[in-house]
Amino acid sequence: MVEDIDNKQGQVTTPLPDGRGQVVGIHPFAQFHFCPKCGSPRFVEHDAKSKHCEDCGFTYYFNPSAATVALIERPARQPHPQTPPIREGSCCSQQSSDGEALPLTGERGAGLEWLCVRRAKDPARGTLDLPGGFSDMFETSEEGVIREVKEETNLDVDCVEFLFSIPNQYEFSGFLVHTIDMFYRCHVKDTTGARAADDAGELLWLRPEDINPADFGLHSIRRGIEKLLKLQL
Ligand SMILES: [Zn+2]
Repeated sequence: MVEDIDNKQGQVTTPLPDGRGQVVGIHPFAQFHFCPKCGSPRFVEHDAKSKHCEDCGFTYYFNPSAATVALIERPARQPHPQTPPIREGSCCSQQSSDGEALPLTGERGAGLEWLCVRRAKDPARGTLDLPGGFSDMFETSEEGVIREVKEETNLDVDCVEFLFSIPNQYEFSGFLVHTIDMFYRCHVKDTTGARAADDAGELLWLRPEDINPADFGLHSIRRGIEKLLKLQL
């Protein structure tokens, strides 16, 4: 991948794979003026994702932070009369081995509600979201999504199933954090104890047909919702 940097502006132009256009943004290290190892001000942009110290030779690469997103489903409280009954049984046996998204067939998706949260904090405070958050150091992505679901909804996840991932940018404390958001279907046997906490201001069980992706404030979550809605058809 070829990347160009305009050092004066700190602007980075990054072509996307497969000719999907390009992204123009601020270099992730635009606010990092000094070498974190020796303190030299000669800490310069090396390429679109790294900076190099011209005094001590230290090079630091910026990679996306791992984050997780949880799709939690339950049978609709008042199923639509025309929707078929939900088949019982664990979906965990359908876990994909190659990381490909598993289809949400019409039969599978019908008559379900998805657990959405209303964001209690910025960015995008007050908009809809799905449970999830950043992975911690030394934990697996699967452990991270289970922990985040517990923190935000008080629900215990029995098993998880990877669906797909979407890159995102997340502004926090005036700094643009690049993330790779990994979407999981999280199986929860008992959803009765759900309550909002931490980053979640409110929990909402919504039918997919009542969900408007535009109500989701974070870019990757909105795209993920669009993808999930498309897959379930
Ligand atoms: Zn240095």
